[in-house]
Amino acid sequence: MAVPAHPDPRRRLLLGALAGGWLAGLGTAGSGMAWAQAAPRRYRRVASAADADASAGADAPTDTQSDDAFVVAAGEAVRIERFSVYGRSFATMEVPRVIRSDTEWRVRLSSLAYRVTRQGASEPAFSGRYLHNHAAGLYRCVCCNTALFDSRSRFNTAGGWLTFHAPISQFNVVESLPGDADTTGDIHHLAVSCRRCDAHVGEVFDDGPPPTDLRYRIDSVALDFVAYPPY
Ligand SMILES: [Zn+2]
Repeated sequence: MAVPAHPDPRRRLLLGALAGGWLAGLGTAGSGMAWAQAAPRRYRRVASAADADASAGADAPTDTQSDDAFVVAAGEAVRIERFSVYGRSFATMEVPRVIRSDTEWRVRLSSLAYRVTRQGASEPAFSGRYLHNHAAGLYRCVCCNTALFDSRSRFNTAGGWLTFHAPISQFNVVESLPGDADTTGDIHHLAVSCRRCDAHVGEVFDDGPPPTDLRYRIDSVALDFVAYPPY
């Protein structure tokens, strides 16, 4: 199943965002699933945070456990998809947006992580701490712990940054025109950010390999990798 090419790069990128949701479905079907095989989610339901609190066991979503530590300003709610420690989709649910002052972000993040996530910079090529990480696991937002990418969608390029076919969920990322985009010409890439805290984590280009034909070029410093535990 391939994403049909579209002559308009921006439309291709948007189509790719839809493909991201499909690829996320692969992550629910267990390891070893070939990319060419589409599989339905085990289940997906709309749930509340209270539902998540009531769930138990090793598959319980882990990024709810530290909500109190991350949420500092109650405000607009955002809908994100939660994943178990094994990368299985649990549910989509509304959670408070993570909002911090600029000073707080500076204190909590390394200087490079701050420049990348809060100011839209890119880490230097070949400097990313996860560039040669081939372990299986989830890549979470360094600012708010939201699951953003899955090792199962990684592919390697010579480009010097982490590259993925798709985000783990279309709910968890936002793809938008970069602030310095020239909207009078062709759009070659979109900025990728975390839906829950607006952290800039990289860019998506429409020159990637199948199955999505997209290349998510992501900064390691914007992520925390959490390996899947052994079964
Ligand atoms: Zn985030």
